[in-house]
Amino acid sequence: MKKIQMVDLKGQYEEIKETVNSSVLEVIDSTAFINGPKVHEFQKHLEDYLGVKHVIPCGNGTDALQIAMMGLGLKPGDEVITADFTFAATVEVIALLGLTPVLVDVEPDTFNIDIEAIKKAITPNTKAIVPVHLFGQCANMDAIMAIAKEHNLYVIEDNAQAIGATYTSKDGTKQKAGTIGHVASTSFFPSKNLGCYGDGGAIFTNDDDLAHTIRGIVNHGMYRRYYHDVVGVNSRLDSIQAAVLNTKLPKLNSYNKARQDASRKYNDAFKGVKNIITPVTKQSCDSICADCDCHVFHQYTLKITNGKRDALVEHLNSNNIPCGVYYPVPLHSQKAYQDSRYNDEDFTVTNQLIKEVISLPMHTELDDEQIAFITTTVINFVNG
Ligand SMILES: *Cc1c(COP(=O)(O)O)cnc(C)c1O
Repeated sequence: MKKIQMVDLKGQYEEIKETVNSSVLEVIDSTAFINGPKVHEFQKHLEDYLGVKHVIPCGNGTDALQIAMMGLGLKPGDEVITADFTFAATVEVIALLGLTPVLVDVEPDTFNIDIEAIKKAITPNTKAIVPVHLFGQCANMDAIMAIAKEHNLYVIEDNAQAIGATYTSKDGTKQKAGTIGHVASTSFFPSKNLGCYGDGGAIFTNDDDLAHTIRGIVNHGMYRRYYHDVVGVNSRLDSIQAAVLNTKLPKLNSYNKARQDASRKYNDAFKGVKNIITPVTKQSCDSICADCDCHVFHQYTLKITNGKRDALVEHLNSNNIPCGVYYPVPLHSQKAYQDSRYNDEDFTVTNQLIKEVISLPMHTELDDEQIAFITTTVINFVNG
């Protein structure tokens, strides 16, 4: 059996090696390292793929979130609601900009931001909601957009984990994750569903004025060379990274399909096994469907309900099966983000999830033998 990896970037590279290598060498040969033609090409291709008017590439997914908030003109004192159960980047940029983070609990089945909790958290100072499409599945965007409309709030989608996922609204409209809110951010960190070979990110929006503002912000607030109209940052996607992404974007659907196939095999093996809860896919389908992209499985995350999660992590590691706990600490309990405004009782779901979740190897190169070994090892240990 091939050595099991949490993410197999090497195996994926082998398949595209020649194209990637020649494309990267072309950039070096051209010396168009910054804002070169590869970056514009990628921007156009991603706009077409997503069906969004504007893609603004930038340095990484964290910058993308920050720049989106700067572009919307959010000001110190403005409250921004986001999920307690996610990667820290989301709350980090809210705090860095001097905005007030308002963390709220998540749903126990999808792990995404809880709609009732959002409603309860709204005050006259609330300016934006940042749903994170966690582990590859969209938050409840119908409900979030309705709340935003009612209270006149911006919606910033953190789409670092769900690129390529499709969201189906109640009325049947299908939209790509990251094209539903006012603006969205994504990350091309190597392990993401569409990863480059270093740092990279992008902002998406259908709003022409906002896109214009953001294009200046990513480049020192310049709209004309050496004329700085707004305070900006330096956050650009390298041409070399764009060269990698140009090769990988046409494969994104098949990469996501491979992740869905692996998830289906995991689900089949864990079906009916006690003390193990498999990921719940909401949306138009009840389970992982063969022909839709409602969940693109950035992570495959189980809940272990008999208190053996930590022991399982140890056991898998000692059997050379990598795994991860995303996330081990709720954001409201993190040293950097603790605040007397928060009551621990308002986060019962997150407080429980951090004890139960475990993410299994998930990438485009998993084979049946590996999946069988992983699932057998998990089942035997949890109920052994
Ligand atoms: C990865 C990630 C980010 C940050 O992206 P970087 O490119 O690493 O800065 C932000 N939000 C979420 C949910 C992520 O998973």
